[in-house]
Amino acid sequence: MAFFRSLVKSGALTVLACYGWLRVRLSNKPTLLILTYHRILPADAPERAAEQPGMVTSPQALEDHIRFVRKLGAEPIHLSDWLDRNSQGKTLPRLSVAFTFDDGWQDNYQYAYPTLKAQNAPATIFLVTQMINTGKTFWPEQVLSLLTTQTIPKNDSSFDWLRPHLPLEPAPGANRPLSLLEADEVIARLKSLEDATILEALEQVYASHPEVAPTETSRSILNGSELTEMAQNGLVMYGAHTRHHYRLNRLKDGKILKEEIVDCLQDLNSLGEAAIPVFCYPNGDITGKGENLVSDTYKAACTTKTGWNLTGCNPYDLHRFNLHDGNSHSTRTLLATIGRGLL
Ligand SMILES: [Zn+2]
Repeated sequence: MAFFRSLVKSGALTVLACYGWLRVRLSNKPTLLILTYHRILPADAPERAAEQPGMVTSPQALEDHIRFVRKLGAEPIHLSDWLDRNSQGKTLPRLSVAFTFDDGWQDNYQYAYPTLKAQNAPATIFLVTQMINTGKTFWPEQVLSLLTTQTIPKNDSSFDWLRPHLPLEPAPGANRPLSLLEADEVIARLKSLEDATILEALEQVYASHPEVAPTETSRSILNGSELTEMAQNGLVMYGAHTRHHYRLNRLKDGKILKEEIVDCLQDLNSLGEAAIPVFCYPNGDITGKGENLVSDTYKAACTTKTGWNLTGCNPYDLHRFNLHDGNSHSTRTLLATIGRGLL
């Protein structure tokens, strides 16, 4: 039965891959595929042990993607260039590909940049501006690290905020840290809380349990000198991904909403010419008020909606293909992911 299921799955994948290949090859209107990555980490990187699987791509897969899109006849292009040429009605290649990276991970410099440079592939990194040069990381990574290495004590009030989101049956015997997949499900459930609430709760945990506080030995977010180096020769540009990665639909305070959207561009502009006024919604969460601020401040915005973009598209509703090792480790899975996104 398992063999039959895997045969059906493999067949479906092949059909989707053929569909994706045909759609891309036959598109006759200038088309932009925006590929989205988060972390670029080798298979043996220790950071993978406390990271959501859907966040990670290997450097080899990134290189394969760049080579493959060129084989498909696509031209790697700066997202900003495509948007400008599109709005000015200038000629665009039949098929363009923009490589984008969300969040501003340090591994983008360590593992993606050498590949981008060697392949001469332009890219945009969407930065969380108040995280740069801080040594901090995002709350999902902090929670994953906590859950996969510690047993959450039963009678300790500093973990009360977390307890309702833990699995009911962690394991026979229960007293063990969670697996990465179990912890990943806790992250999904915690998204019902506000980001700032979770960050405050984590600070309280670290205050009463300093032994579980993150150490700064392995910095996870890009710093200023890495940003400057990658921007040399115009290879990497930087867009906005809010100041603190707060999900906009959860922000009740209008002042904070404005800071996260509008002031983020001011932060970004300190990077000079490499900064582009393009916004990327954290988690894809959008609100009407947020959308108005974005369209008043930026020339375009990336969503988490899946699909490609044609000339004349709404620049504030850019569609992308979110890639990770699980859905693009081979040419067939990459094409299937594109095919599925175009159904
Ligand atoms: Zn993000």
